[in-house]
Amino acid sequence: MEKIVSLCKRRGFIFQSSEIYGGLASTWDYGSLGAELKRNLKNAWWTSNVYERADIEGLDASILMRPETWMASGHVTSFEDTLVDCRSCKKRFKVEHVTGKKCPECGGELTDARQFNLMLKTHLGPVEDTGSLTYLRPETAQGIFVNFQNVLTSMRRRLPFGIAQIGKSFRNEVTTGNLTFRSREFEQMEIEFFVKPGTDEEWYEKWVNERFEWYIKLGIKKENLRKRRHEKSELAHYAKACTDIEYKFPFGWSELEGIANRTDFDLKQHIRLSGKDLQYFDDETKEKYIPYVIEPSGGVDRSILAFLTDSYKEEEVKGEKRVSLAIHKKLAPIKVAILPLLRNRPDIVALAKTILNDLKGCPALGGKVMYDDTAGIGRLYRRQDEIGTPFCITVDVDSLSDKKVTVRDRDSMKQDRVAVEKVKEYLEEKFN
Ligand code: ATP
Repeated sequence: MEKIVSLCKRRGFIFQSSEIYGGLASTWDYGSLGAELKRNLKNAWWTSNVYERADIEGLDASILMRPETWMASGHVTSFEDTLVDCRSCKKRFKVEHVTGKKCPECGGELTDARQFNLMLKTHLGPVEDTGSLTYLRPETAQGIFVNFQNVLTSMRRRLPFGIAQIGKSFRNEVTTGNLTFRSREFEQMEIEFFVKPGTDEEWYEKWVNERFEWYIKLGIKKENLRKRRHEKSELAHYAKACTDIEYKFPFGWSELEGIANRTDFDLKQHIRLSGKDLQYFDDETKEKYIPYVIEPSGGVDRSILAFLTDSYKEEEVKGEKRVSLAIHKKLAPIKVAILPLLRNRPDIVALAKTILNDLKGCPALGGKVMYDDTAGIGRLYRRQDEIGTPFCITVDVDSLSDKKVTVRDRDSMKQDRVAVEKVKEYLEEKFN
C-alpha cells in the first residue's frame, strides 16, 4: 500500500485535498495522470453499459435534491453508523471496530455508543432554518429513481431496461485511511435496471456475472477478485439479495462494487411520498405494476485503487529494479510517449515533434500522447513504465536516414522498427 501511495503522489495520480493547508481528511484531488485514468475508467464503464448494450439509457442528475427524496429512500432515518468517542484522545470509532471498553489507540475511556448520520447537510437560500435544509446526495441511485418516468416516456422504453449514471456522492465517513478507499467525496457508477417482478432473480444473477467479468476483461487478475453474497442479516433495508464484488486490496478483501436486488422498494416509497403514479403499464399484456430493480453500484475511486494495485509490478531486469504498471491500454493515462534520443539535435527533435503532431488527438488511441526529452533514454523509459504507458517511440540518429523509429512495448519490452509513415497505422491496430 505504501508503494502505491508513494507512486500516486510522486507521479501525480492522487494528491491530498488542500494539501498546502495541511490536507482535508478523506478528500482527494486527482493529478494530471489520475484525471486521465479516471476519465478512461468512466469511459470504459459508460461504453460497455450505455453504448455496447441496447437496453440502457444514460442520465446526469443533480447532486442536490429535494429532502423528501432522502426521507423516501430511508437515508434520513437509517443511513447511520453506531459510534463511540474516546474521552481522552477524542477519536471516534465504529462500534464494530472496538473490542472491549477501551480506546484502541490510546487506551482511554470510551463514551456510550451513539447514532451518527452519514449524510452531509447543507442549506439552500439565504436563511439557514429547517425549511432550507437539504443534503449532498449519499448515492446517485435516487436521482435515477425520481427520473424513472421521465426517461421511460422520453426515450419510449419498455421493460426490461436500465438507467446508468456516473456522478459524485458524499458521505461523512468516520473511519478513514487507505487512500481513496473510503472518501468523503467520491464518484459512483450506478445502474438501476428495471424489470418485471418475477424475472428479478434471473436478472440479478446476470448482473452479478456481467459486472464481475467487466473487471476481468479490463485486466484485474481473477485470483484477486471474488463474489461475496450477503447473509440475510447483512442486507440493507431495501434489499432482497446483495452480492459484493470484492478485491484483494493490500489491506484485505474489500468491496469494490455491490449488486443488489432492491425490489420495488424505492419506487414504492417515491409513489407514497410524492403521490405520483410511477407504475409501469405494459401495453402488450395490459398489466400495470411497479417494476423491480437490480442495482449494480460501483465506485470510481475504489476501482482506480484496485486497477493501480493490481497492475503494479516490480521485477529485476539486467540487474536493475524495474517498476511498471501493466495496466490495460484502455485505462493507461498516457497512450504513447515520444522520446527523442538526443535532445540537442534539432533534426531529431523536429522528426519527433512531427510524429507527436500526427498522433496527438488520434481517436483510435483514445487518450493523451506525450513528448519527453528531459532525461537520458534509460530514465525516460523508466518514467513511462512506472505510469503504465503501453508504447514508447524513440527517434534516433538512424531515423533520419532510414525514416524508421523504434516502438517499444511496455509489457514484453519488445522493440519494433517501424516506418515513420506507418507508425499511426501500427499503433491504431495495437489499440484496436
Ligand atoms: P462500505 O460498506 O465499504 O462502506 P457500502 O456498502 O456503504 O460500502 P454502497 O452504499 O453499496 O457502499 O456503495 C456502492 C459503491 O460505492 C461501493 O461499492 C463503493 O465502490 C462506493 N463507495 C461507497 N462509499 C464509498 C466511500 N466512502 N468512498 C469511496 N467509494 C465508496
